[in-house]
Order: sequence, then C-alpha cells, then structure tokens
Amino acid sequence: MAVPILTVLGSLNMDLVAYVPHHPLPGETLTADAFATSPGGKGANQAVACAKLSRARPPPPYSSSSSPSPQQGGSSGGGGGGGGETAHVVMVGCVGADAHGAQLRANLAGYGVDVDGVGEAAAGRATGVALIIVDAPTGENRIVLSPGANHALPEGMFRDAGGLAAGLGRRPDLLIMQLEIPFGTVLAALAAAREEGVDVLLNPAPARRLPDEAYVGLAHLVVNETEAAILGEVEESVLDEEEGLERVSARFLEKGVKNVIVTLGGRGVYFMSEDGRKGLVPAEKAKVVDTTGAGDTFVGRYALDAVGKKGAEFDIEAAVRKANKAAAKTVERAGAQDSIPWRDELE
Ligand code: ATP
Repeated sequence: MAVPILTVLGSLNMDLVAYVPHHPLPGETLTADAFATSPGGKGANQAVACAKLSRARPPPPYSSSSSPSPQQGGSSGGGGGGGGETAHVVMVGCVGADAHGAQLRANLAGYGVDVDGVGEAAAGRATGVALIIVDAPTGENRIVLSPGANHALPEGMFRDAGGLAAGLGRRPDLLIMQLEIPFGTVLAALAAAREEGVDVLLNPAPARRLPDEAYVGLAHLVVNETEAAILGEVEESVLDEEEGLERVSARFLEKGVKNVIVTLGGRGVYFMSEDGRKGLVPAEKAKVVDTTGAGDTFVGRYALDAVGKKGAEFDIEAAVRKANKAAAKTVERAGAQDSIPWRDELE
C-alpha cells in the first residue's frame, strides 16, 4: 500500500515567550528574566506530531531536546527522518514574507513535513505570532495572539486550485484541521472533503459552535473538555461523569460524526464510535513537567492510526491507547514541538 498522505490545513505561529518576575501593570515597563522563541501554531504542531510519530529519530545532533537544523530537511520534506516513514505529512498554511515565516517553514521541513503547501501572504501580512508573558514564580501566562498571515488563507483555496489533490497529484487520505485559520476556509474545506470523499479529523480549537452541516459525515471529532462543553452546549461539570460524556458524545454522533474523542487531560479520554463502541480509557501515568502540546501529540498519534480505515476496521480503542502513551511522553518534557516523541521513543 502507498504511504498514506496526511494533510494538515492550519496555523503556523512563532511563539515569543518572555519570563517575568510578575505580570506588568498598565504603563509599567518590565525587564524580563529570560526570553525564548519557539515555533508553534496548532496546525504546525499537529503536522510535527504526525511527522515525528511516523518515523524514527534521526541521528544526532538532531534530538528531541534540540531544535532541528533546516539543512536536515528539503523544501518538500522527507528530511529529518531516520527512514521507514509510515506517512507523508503535508502542511497547508500561510506565513508572511519575513524572517519568522522562513524559520517556520525550515523548522517543519527539518521534521520531515512537506511544506510546498505553505504559501506566503502578500506584503503587509506578517507571520502569525503569539506574545506569551509567563509570570515565572507562578507559571501563569498571558497570551496575545496575532494571527497575521494565518488569516490570509482564502476560502476558495482548494476549489480554485482544483480540489484537495492540488499540488500533490493525489488526494490526502486524511485532512486534519483546527480553528486557528478563517472559519470560512475550514467550512469550505469540509465541504470540499465531503464532495471528494476525503476523511476529515476536526480538532475545533479554539472552541466555537459549529453549524450543523459541519458535523455531517465528519470522520473524527477530537475535542478537549472545554471544546466538548462549548460545542455540545452543556456545562463543563456535566463531563465530570461518564454518563455526561456519553450523552454529549451521542449528541455529536446524532449530528453525523462517525468517531468522537473527548480528551480529559490527566483523566484520559472518552471515545464513542457510530457502531456503539465506547469507553473511558485512563491516561498513562506521567511525571508532568509541561502539558503544552499534549493535545496536539494525541491528535497526531490518533491520526496515524485512523488514516485510511473505515468502520470496524478502525480499532478506535487501540488508537486511543497509543495516543495516550504518546501524549504522556509529551507532558514529561518541556516545550511544544520539541517535546513530541519520535516513533522509536514509544516502541
Ligand atoms: P493542550 O492544549 O495542553 O495541548 P488539550 O487541552 O488539547 O491539551 P488535554 O485533554 O489536556 O488536551 O490532553 C490531551 C491528552 O494528553 C490527554 O487525553 C492525555 O492522553 C494526555 N495528558 C494530558 N495531561 C496528562 C497528564 N497529566 N498525565 C498523563 N497524560 C496526560
């Protein structure tokens, strides 16, 4: 069988993180104790998760605790892997014509992600950035997100380019999306995927209610507790009990979703599929250092199992267990993309 294509349509951001002794007051100028930049954006994080979890870690100096060198990946991906890739991961998104944009593309390529679908916005649209201020003593953060070029992704991008196969020669086997790009673009891509028979995994973050048609025929809906409560129109406390999780998941299935996943942080995951399989799978035990990227790692590992499988052929519970294991590894390490494990780290 040909290596499956997983296409992530989503955001790319540069995270600019300042660690401060306290959050600044209005008008105050504060000197940071430390500063770091790191590639992020839920779209890019999930593409990296798919890529790292589908291949063995390349030899040093490229390791999970250091950033990849751009030289290790070509512009169309395929680099960064220690061979035996089990998926071809494509990123479709938009960056600005600036240094951050070039860094984000090179970073993804270094992980082996195909970046030919990452376009450049017209002048005046900077690459998306997240300005993150971390109050070092408490760890509490305040974030300002500037979507920039992420919001330049046009609604008609697939239609105008001739469908989801544009640029690849064949359609993706799974399209993965979040909500950090224009909502109209996500809805248009859902419609194109439905028309072309392409399975979609939707991770509706940041959460917002979806129109009913968005659920129709959706292969995988992956939500955390906050997203489940907002989309399912219930109080978050309803999800404290298995009965509430079952009720909300059933509601998504009634709307046309085939597989529902509710991630519950350290509690684990609730799953339900259209053929009646359901259950609560506890999280793996982990020594938590930093939970950033846990959800994106979960999505990546789950997607690698789900791609190309229909109905009973897809062992949803086994996919959840493997994704829990991968995400548990991520929470034991600091950072977002850096902390995502390579495939061989889980074997
Ligand atoms: P994030 O936004 O931090 O990436 P999220 O809110 O999208 O995460 P969570 O439900 O918090 O998603 O976590 C996703 C998965 O990560 C969980 O279902 C679980 O598998 C794993 N996980 C999260 N926290 C822990 C933990 N404390 N111990 C073990 N596994 C965890």
